[in-house]
Amino acid sequence: MKKEVVLLIFVIFILSVGCYHDKSKNPDKETKSPFITDWCDDDPKSNVDFISYSSGSFTLHYLPGTAAERDREDILNKRNSVLATIENMLDIKEDRIIDIYMTPNRRAAKLHNVGAGAASPVQGRIEVLYLDDPQSYEQTRYGHEVTHVVAYNIDPYNRFHLNFIEEGLAEFFDHSGRDYHQVFVQVCKAFKLDLAAAIQLNKDDVYGRSYTKAASFIQTLFDIDPDADKFKAFFSGCYIYLKGNYPYSPDGQLIDADKLIEIIDSQLKVHYGITFEEFNKQWLDNLTPLVNTKPLRLAEDDLNEIKQLFTVRDQAMSEGNAELYRSTMEGFYCDTLSDSERMSIAEQTISKAAAGKSRVIDAFYLTIKNYAWALVYFEKTVNGKTEILKAFLEHYPLGWRFNRVEDELGRGYSSGFGSTLPEC
Ligand SMILES: [Zn+2]
Repeated sequence: MKKEVVLLIFVIFILSVGCYHDKSKNPDKETKSPFITDWCDDDPKSNVDFISYSSGSFTLHYLPGTAAERDREDILNKRNSVLATIENMLDIKEDRIIDIYMTPNRRAAKLHNVGAGAASPVQGRIEVLYLDDPQSYEQTRYGHEVTHVVAYNIDPYNRFHLNFIEEGLAEFFDHSGRDYHQVFVQVCKAFKLDLAAAIQLNKDDVYGRSYTKAASFIQTLFDIDPDADKFKAFFSGCYIYLKGNYPYSPDGQLIDADKLIEIIDSQLKVHYGITFEEFNKQWLDNLTPLVNTKPLRLAEDDLNEIKQLFTVRDQAMSEGNAELYRSTMEGFYCDTLSDSERMSIAEQTISKAAAGKSRVIDAFYLTIKNYAWALVYFEKTVNGKTEILKAFLEHYPLGWRFNRVEDELGRGYSSGFGSTLPEC
């Protein structure tokens, strides 16, 4: 991935000159990917329609002139190979042709009326972004959405199953080549969480929000017994139904953390002959040998770039410069928050939040959201008082930008889809 190595003074100058929407006056943007910018001006590909290309069990629908068109052969080869692996391991057969819709950015997805990261198992349909970056989601986790669709064949009679189990299975077959126990330990370490506490299921797990935790759970299940029939019976037994967007158990109860544990415990007993407590002991036994695994600290060039971003942010706050502040924020999730809404957040923050001095203490790679994602701990000193805060950043083609920072207004500002997801 392209790395920006720009002297701080140069960055400040560039970001301070205004005219941020005018590419011709902003050399910082001229060398960037044509697909993504830090403003909501990604090309929505409004003048073209999907072209279809089929191979094996998939039909790819892509927009001409995009990375998906260039990589179409490779895209379908990889997904056919994922399908073969899942069919073999779970002893199921996918008879349908699966449609994959790929768009180059979120504006294009919205304009062409398709999702930006979704699978419809019943329809046999996937709608995702395909970004021109080898470290982006669909280039590295290409098995995830395919698994959601193919898992339909395990239990076609029930549309929904516990999110924790569905997301864990999709992540387990994402074909990223990762060891999910190791990834889970690394992420827990980044969040400074004790492993025994981290494996306890909580409300976020009801919605399957931590993919790494869920994948480590599924890996443990296959470690205990790789039998496909047992797994399929367990998976089918974890069916749920939705009322509105809320998950309900077959006996009509809204699923909370306790109910989640109760369902999994009962299905483990029936199909694997173990209690959840016994399962957890095995899970912890699998994780404990990895306890010396180092968390994934940011490489020096990424870290230096992020330190510069903090310096620019501090400067923006001390000068009361909302435009400069805005330039440190992401501009990728433009279907959920417009440029003017971002600018309004920047202005409010500048007018109300206290300026101070930030110092990056530690920084870790987490998983990949759309691009690589990082957790940064920083020390912020305001009027002689210092506290340690967290920031979440994503590595866009133009560089690292903030998705969320704890010292912003109300500490809850989040401009990006998924930017607040817990990982451990
Ligand atoms: Zn998923």
